[in-house]
Amino acid sequence: MRLPFVVSVLGLSLVVAGCATHPVTGRSQLMIMPEGQANQMAYQAYTQMAREKSTLPASDPASQRVQRITQRIVPQAVRVYPQASDWRWESRVFRDDSINAFAMAGGKVGINTGMLNKLRPTDDELAQVIAHEVAHALSGHTREKMSMAMTQQMGLSVASALGGLDSQTAAMAQQVATVAIDLPFSRRMELEADEVGLLLAARAGYDPRAAVSLWRKMQANGGGGGPEWLSTHPDSGSRIQALERAIPRVMPEYRRATGR
Ligand SMILES: [Zn+2]
Repeated sequence: MRLPFVVSVLGLSLVVAGCATHPVTGRSQLMIMPEGQANQMAYQAYTQMAREKSTLPASDPASQRVQRITQRIVPQAVRVYPQASDWRWESRVFRDDSINAFAMAGGKVGINTGMLNKLRPTDDELAQVIAHEVAHALSGHTREKMSMAMTQQMGLSVASALGGLDSQTAAMAQQVATVAIDLPFSRRMELEADEVGLLLAARAGYDPRAAVSLWRKMQANGGGGGPEWLSTHPDSGSRIQALERAIPRVMPEYRRATGR
């Protein structure tokens, strides 16, 4: 009879030990999944995905464009989250007609050809997409989803988890984490990625106002159901209004970066 109590106390202490504070917004986050392990899983998933889906060659102008913009945004990500300087940053264009983009833990960015060909984004608009994805990555949103999924499984092997991730726990974590990668981000994570992405792009010299024109294009291309982007990046319903409110706050950063 005492076991559930012990388990919940152990679980609670694990949760407390696994708390982090968001480097920009200050929100407290549940982070049981260690960063190194999450990155390792993301690297494997990214490599596998690139093998299955096929990507444009690095010499393709579209790849070079995505790479050029990513390379301007990454130093801004490192500025707010210094650990990201150790990540193996990489951006590729995936041959996929759906209007979508993603970033995994550890700095792996993917932009679909559909995003480029159907939306025809300007550099400023494409920078908003990439900065939004980079913001998800540096915010540890995937790791947070994995951690939330893990707490639901935690009763199973709390004791071994407390002693570090042994092979059995690691196997469970791997399973849970794989499921978590496919879960959509929460509304709160979306708004946070918008806010942080806007800041990163502005500091990299990309016009924050492009975030609004980008979202209008996204909506115009979505028809009734919305583009695929919305299946992994749910709209808060008031996203454009939130962006419009946030833009004046980052305009000084943009002006400083561009000297305009
Ligand atoms: Zn998002």
